[in-house]
Formats: sequence, structure tokens, C-alpha cells
Amino acid sequence: MKIAAIEAIPYSIPYTHPLRFASGEVTHANNVVIKVTTQDGVVGVAEAPPRPYTYGETQASIVAVVRDLFAPAIVGTTLLQREQAQQAMARTIGNPTAKAAIDMAMWDALGRTLGQSVSSLLGGFTDRMRVSHMLGFESPERMVAEAERMKDTYGISTFKVKVGRRPVDLDVAVCRALRTHFGDTIELYIDGNRGWTAAESAQALTAMADLGLTLAEELNPADDVLGRRWLVERTPMPFVADESVPTPADITREILAGSATAVSIKTARTGFTTSHRILGLVEGLGIDVVMGNQIDGQIGTNATVTFGAAFERTSRRAGELSNFLDISDDLLTEPLRITNGELIVREGPGVGVDLDDDKLAHYRIDV
Ligand SMILES: [Mg+2]
Repeated sequence: MKIAAIEAIPYSIPYTHPLRFASGEVTHANNVVIKVTTQDGVVGVAEAPPRPYTYGETQASIVAVVRDLFAPAIVGTTLLQREQAQQAMARTIGNPTAKAAIDMAMWDALGRTLGQSVSSLLGGFTDRMRVSHMLGFESPERMVAEAERMKDTYGISTFKVKVGRRPVDLDVAVCRALRTHFGDTIELYIDGNRGWTAAESAQALTAMADLGLTLAEELNPADDVLGRRWLVERTPMPFVADESVPTPADITREILAGSATAVSIKTARTGFTTSHRILGLVEGLGIDVVMGNQIDGQIGTNATVTFGAAFERTSRRAGELSNFLDISDDLLTEPLRITNGELIVREGPGVGVDLDDDKLAHYRIDV
């Protein structure tokens, strides 16, 4: 079980259409595959999706920090010394996506070594999650058409609408069009990516009071400390902290300050090990939780369902598991399939997905 090598392989696959939201836009999945290889020849795999405008990590910075800092500190330890790896990486502030991918690749290698599924090793609560689909900035007509396609093709009936545009009426019109078209056959919630002020957020929530929204995420910046607290007090549904809480300590700080009443767990940001710690915090604080999407590819999406399905609390709500549908290709020998609005956990061993080496060779950009 001794770790012999950790590799970071950057790749680029185009999206079928750009995804736009208040904090940025993506046209390509410019992600990094992390491979952890043991002396026994077992290979664990995970994916790091950089979000430069959120965490400051880029594809190049992830490759560099893994190669120059994390791999030298972890190679030589074993898959059962995950806490050693956590401590080695914790010395460096930031770089959440690089750290998370190494952790998840170690878990995959451990599961493969033991012949067990990682989801079972983590908690084994259920074998599936309902899927929530994220709708980026578009006109009301296009958003309704996209939701209709997702409902008809994949059976998805939970939608997270990206909001945070000005004037707020733009986004109110989208949510209203979706509710009018689908009635109560869909669940709707919103994510502002800090695009609005507290006053604009309150105005939008009032205008949408009759739409039955189930969650409101990062509508305004958490750094607007009093404005955020004021807004959360007035928000009639769970207020989700996402990019404002990348660490367990941030969650404690924001929740105790009254700046959120729920959190988004993203395995792309906190891997399996720290996500598990966050889940304990969520239970201890008695707050709501949703499994989020860091614009993951298929490897990352599979990691999200691996963790989300492993526990009762994280599998209550639909998980954000469909973003890969907008990417024009993937790297797996067996692509993920969403059917009847659900994504099933792969049986394993490990996280249960295998890389297609020909596809990785085709899309990698370092050679
Ligand atoms: Mg978010």
C-alpha cells in the first residue's frame, strides 16, 4: 500500500456551449487528472477542476503544487496514512482542489487494494442520488427549453438557477417562467455567486416569494458582513454558503455569525476526508446540506455521488451531478448515465470508474 508516485495530468475538453454565471464563464473543461500509484501497481484516480475566479487555482498551479510540494511530501507513506497526507498538505494554505484530488485518488487506490467500493467504506447509506441540474445565464425561453430537455431526456426534476444579474428582474423572469411552465412538477432553487447586494437579494426574494424556491445560495458576498447577516435573517428558506466556506473553520465562523443556515459540500474542494469532517460539523450544528458541483467532469461527478450517497444527510436532497452533460466528451471507459433523474453509485472497487487511456492521451495538453 506504499505510495510510489503521484502524477498530475492536465487535459482540456470543450463544452458544447459556454456556461455563464455571476462569477465567471467556462468554455472548456480545463481540468487535471490526479493519479496515485502504489508499489503494488494499484492506481487511484481523481480529478481537480480549477476555478481561478473563485479559489485562485489554475490548471498550471495545480500541476505545479502537486509536483513540487504535495507529491514529495506524500510519496513513501501508505494508503492507510491518509492523516499524514492531510497534515502534509495542511501546511500549505489554499490549493483546496489540488489537495482534494490527491485525497480522493488515495481513497480510490485504497478501495481498489481492498476490493471494496469507496462509497461503502465511507458510509454505504444508499446506492444512488437524485440529480439536480444547474441552469446558467440565458433568456427565460432558453432556460425553460433547457429544463424541458433535461426533464424529458434524463428525468431530472430539480433545477438550480444561476442568478445575480442586474437588474434583478432578469433572473426573477427566468424563475417565474420556469415555475409557470412546469407548475409544481419541479423543485427550484437559486445560486447568486455573490452577484447581488443584500438589498438586491431581498428585492429578488420578495419578487419570487410565491415561486416556492427551496434554497438560496451565496446571493451576496459573505464579506458584506452585516448586509449578509441582515439578508439571512430575512430569507425564508435555507441560505446556503458555498464558496465562502471552503474549510470547516469557515463553516463554523459563518454559521455562528448568522451568515448562512446551510452549506454546500463539494468533494472537488474538500475531497472525501475533509468532506466527512464537514458532515460531522453539519450534524453537530444541525444545519442543512447540499452536495454541490464545482463544474466537475465525469470523474469529479462520480466522486460527488460516491460521497453523497454514502451518508443519510447528504443523500436527502438532490445532488448537483449533471454538469458533465454539457462537456463534449469524457475520459472514462464507461461514461456516467443519468436515468429517471438519478445517478447510481458505481460498485467499485474504489470509486468504480476506469480511465480510457486513448482518450486521456488525446485530450492531455502537456505533451
Ligand atoms: Mg454555488
